[in-house]
Amino acid sequence: MAVKYVIIIQCDIAHRRCSGFACTKSFYNKEGAFEGCGEDVQYISFTCGGCCGKGVAAKLEHFSRHLKKHTTVTKEEIAIHLSSCMATDNYHYDRCPHIDYIKGIISKKGYSNVVEGSYISKGAEKKREEGKYHSYNA
Ligand code: SF4
Repeated sequence: MAVKYVIIIQCDIAHRRCSGFACTKSFYNKEGAFEGCGEDVQYISFTCGGCCGKGVAAKLEHFSRHLKKHTTVTKEEIAIHLSSCMATDNYHYDRCPHIDYIKGIISKKGYSNVVEGSYISKGAEKKREEGKYHSYNA
């Protein structure tokens, strides 16, 4: 089913120092994890609400209510992107240690299209390939 709405969930800790500019720009330019995304796709972003990500449940519940009330878009037409700051090891942070728990919440709320990543930094990708970021999750 074609995606009509994109949600980016950002790491709340990363959000304290990041405006989300690069992820938003990637979405509008259909770059990185948004390649192939249609021009008429709508977009919203919010944070996980802080560790352990439990806040995602209430935020998705709120979103779902408004989605139903104000649009004809179904949950099947939504892609939820877990932002790169959440899904990858990078200079500032490690991959979110609660990401599987958060995915479980998303599934429980009835959303099945989950994508890891948003803005893809070429520099960070290269460093990851070179093994320069040490993961504590390995
Ligand atoms: S739960 Fe994960 S994504 Fe959310 S603030 Fe904590 S580390 Fe960041």
